Amino acid sequence: MKYIKYIMLFTIISSCYLLNSTRKVNNKINPLNETLNVDLKAYWIGHATVLIKMYDKWILTDPIWNDNLLYTLGRHVEPGIDLENIPPIDYIIISHVHLDHLDTYTLKKLSKKAHLILPKGAPDFSGYNFKKISYLSKDEFIESENLKITAVVAQHFGGRWAIDNLWDGEPYNGYIVSNKGSQVYFAGDTGYNSKDFKEIGEKYKIDLALIPVGPYRGKIFGDDNGNRVHVSPIGAIQIFRDTKAKKMIPIHHGTFYSNPDKEIVYVKSAIESSGLKERIFLIEQGSGITFGN
Ligand SMILES: [Zn+2]
Ligand SMILES: [Zn+2]
Repeated sequence: MKYIKYIMLFTIISSCYLLNSTRKVNNKINPLNETLNVDLKAYWIGHATVLIKMYDKWILTDPIWNDNLLYTLGRHVEPGIDLENIPPIDYIIISHVHLDHLDTYTLKKLSKKAHLILPKGAPDFSGYNFKKISYLSKDEFIESENLKITAVVAQHFGGRWAIDNLWDGEPYNGYIVSNKGSQVYFAGDTGYNSKDFKEIGEKYKIDLALIPVGPYRGKIFGDDNGNRVHVSPIGAIQIFRDTKAKKMIPIHHGTFYSNPDKEIVYVKSAIESSGLKERIFLIEQGSGITFGN
């Protein structure tokens, strides 16, 4: 009898997983088949995973090709690019260690020729045999040839399993990626405040901002901009304003957690009422946008 509760728990968890159906992405792109002689191009793969081409370098943010988080939270839409079609990545950037951003299944699958960049305080990944691993705190950077990746502030929380947030410190970053004349801001996962993002906007000249707009279900604890650790779609657009970025791709929506069909209605509405819709590119998983030349 004492095992009955564990059997029930297992049944509930497995049914959540089995009931989830993952939507296919039609006409997935294959960057390997494209002639890419561009200053800046970004493909949204899903959630916070973005593949960025900046001149001759490939950068991948928070890669997650996993079908589910902890066998319970299933993926609503499959990744926009198949793992085998990922071009040779130069840098993998991890914003923080939450399960939807740091996925060990995916890190094991990716080429080890990449330089892995994590927030300081993240676990030791030396056993994964990446070419190089760097752990960055705010304002610290790595630089090679023309490319520079700088950790910038994010307002979020640590830990990987919820309870470890209590002793895990602050291992979470945003990043500015600069190559020659182009700058991309990857916000990771963040709440809003009226100071930090304005400072980023004063310090950098951002061409493209990748900012989380979800998960959002029509309301969020906090005010219009969201709460201390997560922004609402309106708060995401306020970050876009504060950072003075030229263009924005909304991320961290439509993949895990919220129903994508419902969530996108709120995201579209926030974009429509922002007065900035010409500069915000709400693209689908597997789509790419070329910025600059
Ligand atoms: Zn997070
Ligand atoms: Zn997240």
